[in-house]
Amino acid sequence: MYGLGILKGLGVTIRHFFESYIEDIRYAGSKLTPTQKFEKRQGTDAVGIYTVQYPEEKIAVPERFRFVPFLVVEDDDHPDRPGHDWCTSCGICAKVCPPQCIWIVRSEDPVSKRPVPEPEAFFIDIDICMNCGFCAEFCPFDAIKMDHDYELADYDRTGTHIYDKEKLSKPFSFWRKIAPTTAWEEAVDRKSWEHTDVVKAKQKTGAPISVPGGLNDPYQPPIVPKKEEPVAAAPSAAGEAVAEAVPAAAAAPSEEDLAKEERRKKREAALARKAAEKAASEGN
Ligand code: SF4
Ligand code: SF4
Repeated sequence: MYGLGILKGLGVTIRHFFESYIEDIRYAGSKLTPTQKFEKRQGTDAVGIYTVQYPEEKIAVPERFRFVPFLVVEDDDHPDRPGHDWCTSCGICAKVCPPQCIWIVRSEDPVSKRPVPEPEAFFIDIDICMNCGFCAEFCPFDAIKMDHDYELADYDRTGTHIYDKEKLSKPFSFWRKIAPTTAWEEAVDRKSWEHTDVVKAKQKTGAPISVPGGLNDPYQPPIVPKKEEPVAAAPSAAGEAVAEAVPAAAAAPSEEDLAKEERRKKREAALARKAAEKAASEGN
């Protein structure tokens, strides 16, 4: 029927219009904290229209979100090589970068003049970078990653938008924080939380290697203890079961616990997926 599409579209608009007010009223009486409310109302399951008050409020970006790259360096408290580059200046990222916006200067030994596997200088022109993620995808050392920071506007392009090594470098713990699942998957692939070169060196000397999920893994996914089920008391003389009272506040997991549990589930799902893929490839 002519005009049916217009009516359907108007119906969607009217539904959103009313849902917005219904949600406003529902969340006005909710016991959630302002942060929890914001996360729910701007999430993917939200209904109605919710205006995010940017820049005071910001939509949480998904873990796989990618903007300009950054270089991974060891944490400052790393026992063997604090602040050391993961990048070996192999140059692969610069080769695969479609708009050619990466420049690398390889270090060399001041005495022998032989090349040293670390960059002396590393530049990325972030105005040319098209955020494709090829550099991170192809890096054989997991040394370049896509950042979540998208607020990079500035008046001075030359001075601020050509990122040097200092500006690009961020510790490994930062990568683990913004992309816990991916960092975990990569560590499982490398069979260690350490850089490949460190693993090789430790294998030669027999030194212990930090294995993801191993006994002494400092980054072991936190296991949230199961909530205790309320214990049913014996039926009373009147034949009524009296349930042991569990205070609601004590049983409710905190926001942090929920986030940890979510991360643990993601990691377990990633490991199960990898095991299934491995079993499938071995079966072929
Ligand atoms: S591919 Fe990785 S290791 Fe090679 S130069 Fe680029 S960031 Fe460094
Ligand atoms: S994200 Fe793409 S365009 Fe940007 S530096 Fe990496 S390869 Fe180049």
